[in-house]
Amino acid sequence: MERHKLANTGLEVSRLGLGGIPFQYISQTETNAIIHAGHDRGMNLFYTSRMYRDSENKIGLAVRNFRDEVVLGTSTHKRKKPDGRKEIEQSLRNFGTDVIDIYSLHNVLTLGVLNEIMSPGGAYQALEEMRNAGYIKHVGISAHQPETILRALEMAAFDVVEFPLNFVDREAAAGLIEEVKGRGIGFVTIKPMVFGYAGDPSLALRYVFSQRPDATVIGTYKLEELNQNLDAEADGSPVTEDEIMDAIALSEKGCFKVFCRRCETCVTCPQGIDIRKALRIYEYFDRYHSTDWARDSYRALSPGLEACDNCGICERECPYHIPIKREFARAKIDLLPRRSPRRLVQKKLFGR
Ligand code: SF4
Ligand code: SF4
Repeated sequence: MERHKLANTGLEVSRLGLGGIPFQYISQTETNAIIHAGHDRGMNLFYTSRMYRDSENKIGLAVRNFRDEVVLGTSTHKRKKPDGRKEIEQSLRNFGTDVIDIYSLHNVLTLGVLNEIMSPGGAYQALEEMRNAGYIKHVGISAHQPETILRALEMAAFDVVEFPLNFVDREAAAGLIEEVKGRGIGFVTIKPMVFGYAGDPSLALRYVFSQRPDATVIGTYKLEELNQNLDAEADGSPVTEDEIMDAIALSEKGCFKVFCRRCETCVTCPQGIDIRKALRIYEYFDRYHSTDWARDSYRALSPGLEACDNCGICERECPYHIPIKREFARAKIDLLPRRSPRRLVQKKLFGR
């Protein structure tokens, strides 16, 4: 496994690391198997978030016999200082460690959110204080918009940036990697597999590595997937423009048509529906078969999808032309409570 210096942090990380989303859905035994197999093949970067339920606990247990050999990262989506501090204390307990290598502000979607986090009493102060106190080594930030990252770097001394990069969303990161690395800040990419839509892991990972981030983290549910990803890392051959064009053509034909990029352009739903969240819940049902989690999350949506009056505003706004109304119609059937009459009919007809 190729290893890279994570810019000025002094950390040395495997260029392929594991993200924590899947660990909340699989058992401790399965988590151990994946992390131990990855570690055996040279992985040392494990990165999650407080949002991903018990993933910190599972990662902490899996690495407890070789904690000193790995880099642990996590993140908080809290925006206020007291909440941020509590999150860090909880993460330390969850991992079962005295110090966390990288702690990030998670998914800072807009400049408004960034301003809130960076203002007096904002969550950044909690991270800074805990870094000064020695509980975290490095402070990071994750966002989906380059301008948010660049503004954040003007406002504070971040050590690591996490940013989505894959062969579908190529433009967003263009220029950002060199800009960030040029400032001595580590660049870790996320979402290399396009939320599971990439199809060919070899192409997806070879594309990301060709852009030369310091590392990329990938979610893995099964050992077979891990081995495929590790083989792609070991291959590392340059990706050709023809391969990319073929993959993009495939995307035009079908699967990427329903892939929400989480860009938040559609926040103006007159009914107040959180479209991005609803699509994400349905993706997890449809792509990852996280059936119970998806049904629980669907029930908790407020307002729920029954509030949608099919006005179509969101579809007109979405730059990726996602058929949102159609996806919501499917979600309303698939995510119905198990005992409802429609669900029983559906189960009889389709077995799901
Ligand atoms: S179609 Fe539904 S989800 Fe989309 S903007 Fe209108 S009410 Fe909101
Ligand atoms: S505008 Fe489209 S891609 Fe962006 S968050 Fe909304 S549905 Fe997703």
